[in-house]
Amino acid sequence: MSLAERSSREQRLANAAAGVERCRKCAIGSSRRNSVYGEGDSCAELMLVGEGPGETEDLLGRPFVGRAGELLDRMLLAIDLPREHVYICNTVKCRPTFDDGQRLRNRAPDPSELANCRPYLDEQIEIIRPSVLLALGAPAAKSFLGATFSITKQRGQWYEGPRGTPLIATFHPAYLLRMTGGELTAVKRLVWDDLKAVRAKLDDLKSGDAAPAPVEQIDLFSTDAAD
Ligand code: SF4
Repeated sequence: MSLAERSSREQRLANAAAGVERCRKCAIGSSRRNSVYGEGDSCAELMLVGEGPGETEDLLGRPFVGRAGELLDRMLLAIDLPREHVYICNTVKCRPTFDDGQRLRNRAPDPSELANCRPYLDEQIEIIRPSVLLALGAPAAKSFLGATFSITKQRGQWYEGPRGTPLIATFHPAYLLRMTGGELTAVKRLVWDDLKAVRAKLDDLKSGDAAPAPVEQIDLFSTDAAD
């Protein structure tokens, strides 16, 4: 990637992020503390898309920080992808919340918020032009693949995403953090399978040949380390 191309992409992303910062299309545009546009390598081969910012992301204006973000970093390292080599964002750029009478709590984005924010996500994909899209969690996967998508039944399979980009879905790191014992071990195994599929697809697209499967790295994303 030429320096000029990288610079052009970074400028376009910065302009788009400024537009998001001004956006008030949804009510959550006014209740948020910060918009969370996305971050990472403007020339990334892998783009990860989560559901929406949570409390810590809203506070810091960055995607996937806190415990889930730390776990995601370890998951990426397990397939030899440092966080700074990928691009990370969400389906919506403002924190969806509801007021339980005492404090604002997280909720899933509603259909109108997803629709309002979709042009920003499509623009990110258009600018970055990733080789592979990884949807993290059911809401992100459904935003690409439709409301009937089942994360338990259909994760780990390849689909055609926006711009014809290969798209795969896996469980959200926050989901792993809620699990314990044998259930956690089983889900980690599935996530590891999905990560290996991403690594193989990236290697395949780059070289035309599938590279050998990565050595067992599942312990690298131990959820214990996030406690
Ligand atoms: S969620 Fe997206 S569309 Fe809605 S106010 Fe925030 S930036 Fe704008």
